[in-house]
Amino acid sequence: MRALRSSTASAATSMSRRAFSSTMDTTMLTESQREVRDGVAEVCKNFPNSYWRERDQTKTYPFDFHKAIADGGWLGVSLPEENGGSGLGVSEASIMMQTITESGAGFPGAQCTHANIYATQPLAVFGSAEQRAQLIPKIISGEYRSCFGVTEPNAGLNTLELTTTATRLENGDWGQKIWITNAQNAHIMFLLARTTPVDQVKKKSEGLTMFAIPVDKSKNGIAIKAIKKMGGGCVDSNEVWFDDYVVPGDCVIGGEEGIGKGFRIILHGMNSERCLVAAEALGIGYAALQKAADYAGDREVFGRKIGQNQGIAHPLADAWAQLHAASLATYHAARLYDNALVDKTISPITVGTAANTAKMLAAEAGFNAAQRAILTHGGMGFAAEFDVERMLRESFVPRIAPISGEMIRNYISERVLNLPKSY
Ligand SMILES: Cc1cc2nc3c(=O)[nH]c(=O)nc-3n(C[C@H](O)[C@H](O)[C@H](O)COP(=O)(O)OP(=O)(O)OC[C@H]3O[C@@H](n4cnc5c(N)ncnc54)[C@H](O)[C@@H]3O)c2cc1C
Repeated sequence: MRALRSSTASAATSMSRRAFSSTMDTTMLTESQREVRDGVAEVCKNFPNSYWRERDQTKTYPFDFHKAIADGGWLGVSLPEENGGSGLGVSEASIMMQTITESGAGFPGAQCTHANIYATQPLAVFGSAEQRAQLIPKIISGEYRSCFGVTEPNAGLNTLELTTTATRLENGDWGQKIWITNAQNAHIMFLLARTTPVDQVKKKSEGLTMFAIPVDKSKNGIAIKAIKKMGGGCVDSNEVWFDDYVVPGDCVIGGEEGIGKGFRIILHGMNSERCLVAAEALGIGYAALQKAADYAGDREVFGRKIGQNQGIAHPLADAWAQLHAASLATYHAARLYDNALVDKTISPITVGTAANTAKMLAAEAGFNAAQRAILTHGGMGFAAEFDVERMLRESFVPRIAPISGEMIRNYISERVLNLPKSY
């Protein structure tokens, strides 16, 4: 009789940490960017992989993480100083988001914080002084959580065809109908809705208005239902139905001037969102790659470390190179976004092209690193205990949202290569 001996690797085994110098070439960062990287990493240290693994399994909202980030003042990273923010740019916000996802927090860590950063950009740029003073300090302190309401089931990626409409009531308030997808745990929703019917505008991009609406489930006219999903289940994604939901007259971003100009206004949120999501994809990719490198340097099969096999090492080297290239594209896009706010010679197309391209490259690089991490771990890649399966599930999100790779290729084909529109 031979005794069976279990030699299954365990995530708890003491793996030598061979942290590669990766992710962010810290010599390239400004002093304030380094402060963001170090300060956010310090907060994240208290929320290790085990915390996020448990959240993933129990699907409980990471309120304490959101609070810790808010308490550190990080939600105001790129909001105006006059409203209590740090007045830094989307470059710093992207560094923050990469640091969060790379810590092991993955997409839930991003999703419980990032809308407070990118969705607030249109408010910071176009909001009236009263709107900024009323909302931004509460968002920075964490008292208000915000979400971004754009996607609709029938319009899909065709945002200009969205059907959520807002009509002015006699008393000046707004009523809204039909439904959009959005988040449940929010106090404020940055919402794009049509205020002039599409057949009454010259261009479909006209007649849309951006609102900052209170999300008050105790009021009539709003219903929110969580969607069961593949990953990041601790931060809810929802179907939201509006049926004559009345919102205050003064919640149009940009006031009277902003009515009908929502598409131009929301582009600020969309381009910053692409930079942030790109950085988040990088963080997931680097986290997965670090785990793969650790495992490959530790695990022995056939009497040698599996990382000695080029069949294991080279795909990881490729994954690193892809992440590196995508990170250059991401921080270039974020810098362009920030510079364009002051340098009006930088066109919106230049910013949009850079932000879209970065998002596409980073999403693919993050996904590739995550799937290679699974294969590097062999069977243990499938075990929740090693975290890489969680990272792979979450790495699909940046490939789909806020815009798919296919639509980015369409954008580059048309706007950069001047090819005829294909759809
Ligand atoms: C986890 C998660 C969180 C999200 N959070 C938010 C949020 O907070 N707020 C929000 O507003 N939205 C959110 N979204 C929605 C997300 O932005 C959309 O899913 C995304 O924009 C894609 O739209 P769709 O799902 O309607 O896909 P569809 O438009 O139905 O497209 C389906 C597929 O067809 C392809 N396709 C469509 N048209 C073309 C074309 N002309 N050429 C080539 N391919 C095409 C697409 O690329 C895609 O692969 C979230 C999504 C996920 C998964």
